[in-house]
Amino acid sequence: MPETKILLSEQEIPTHWYNIAADMPNRPAPPLNPATGEPIGPEALAAIFPMALIEQEVSSERWIEIPEAVREMYRMWRPSPLYRAHRLEKALDTPARIYYKYEGVSPAGSHKLNTAIPQVYYNKQAGIRRIATETGAGQWGSALSMACQFFGLACTVYMVKVSYQQKPYRRILMSTFGAEVIPSPSDRTEAGRKILAEHPDSLGSLGIAISEAVEDAASRADTNYALGSVLNHVCLHQTVIGLEAKKQMEKAGDYPDVVIGCCGGGSNFAGIAFPFLYDRLTQGKQVRAVAVEPEACPTLTRGKFAYDFGDTAQLTPMLQMYTLGHTFMPSGIHAGGLRYHGDSPLVSQLYHDGLIEAVAYNQTAIFEAAVQFARAEGIVPAPESAHAVRAAIDEALRAKEAGEARVILFGLSGHGHFDLAAYEAYLSGDLQDVPLSEEALAAGLAELPKVGG
Ligand SMILES: *Cc1c(COP(=O)(O)O)cnc(C)c1O
Repeated sequence: MPETKILLSEQEIPTHWYNIAADMPNRPAPPLNPATGEPIGPEALAAIFPMALIEQEVSSERWIEIPEAVREMYRMWRPSPLYRAHRLEKALDTPARIYYKYEGVSPAGSHKLNTAIPQVYYNKQAGIRRIATETGAGQWGSALSMACQFFGLACTVYMVKVSYQQKPYRRILMSTFGAEVIPSPSDRTEAGRKILAEHPDSLGSLGIAISEAVEDAASRADTNYALGSVLNHVCLHQTVIGLEAKKQMEKAGDYPDVVIGCCGGGSNFAGIAFPFLYDRLTQGKQVRAVAVEPEACPTLTRGKFAYDFGDTAQLTPMLQMYTLGHTFMPSGIHAGGLRYHGDSPLVSQLYHDGLIEAVAYNQTAIFEAAVQFARAEGIVPAPESAHAVRAAIDEALRAKEAGEARVILFGLSGHGHFDLAAYEAYLSGDLQDVPLSEEALAAGLAELPKVGG
């Protein structure tokens, strides 16, 4: 029987990240100043990001070296395992060969530590002493809190209020790692006070929390901002996932027909898919890449490719991306990490150019897949990751219908140990699908700024 667990040694941790901008037929359009609508230069970002990250953001170099200090910390859990899902294949009775790359082995429980560590590293190099950020369900906040603690920086996390109240465990994890956690909207910032004046009972959103963290960082010289997804340098850092997976697939003597990743802001999908898209872009390899999103926040499948703000208060530069509108408020689905209105400009451009595919699922369908996966493989997926599981299972079932031995690789971005309340809701039949109406979709898109794109 072929191997179940395909491992690499610590020496095989990649030495360089892969920058897909070097190989794209069309590179993303430039970011625009939120006030003037004019293209911004790198210097406009210098108030909140260190220059090393800004350089990565605009770089067109194909391979970017991973600093030795970052690789040293990656060794705590990298290379992450690649599994052959023998038991799932059997349960599905499919001729498909299913592989998954598991990022839940990181100390913070998801792929987000892959970028938290280099981001904090470059900030420390630049003399920054404190980082402000936002978090939704808390996965990004816990990864950044841990990275800050390891490098000796202070960390303030604006946590979307509804999650702060309903999901105490991630908040406690952040506090354990030494971070200051503030429910957002808060009275600490202009953006937060403005929202509270209009809506005193606001439960917050990722867009509002970003506004607060950016304002906090911009107003203090010792403080920078860090984002856990969307931006080019974040997608870049996540390519360690796909680069390792390529070596592991080679060890297994296989190559994927299709690579699948869940997609919130796009960095996890980018991480698993971009190194394989390299083969497609530079060697014409026939490999499909599929981004999976929730029906409740269907950015790629129903959004618009246009310039939009990254946050509610319109403080961030405008990016050309697939978006549902910066005022869009997704319903309270359990995959908190997939509830962002926009998407990575790199992922968006690739989708616009027909180089990747996208699919959306309702949450009852993803929990059904998650439970089936847990029972076969023994790993309880994060609700976000369960989107990739659903798509992989459907791909395997289609392979069965077609009688094809298709090779499927998917990214299992994190574990669901802090999401068991969502599993309980599903298991007790209380979980509802919350389809997005045409009216709500149109209302969000009507708020797009009237520039460019
Ligand atoms: C944040 C998160 C996601 C979404 O990641 P993006 O890079 O924003 O698409 C997926 N899975 C898990 C476990 C997460 O924590």
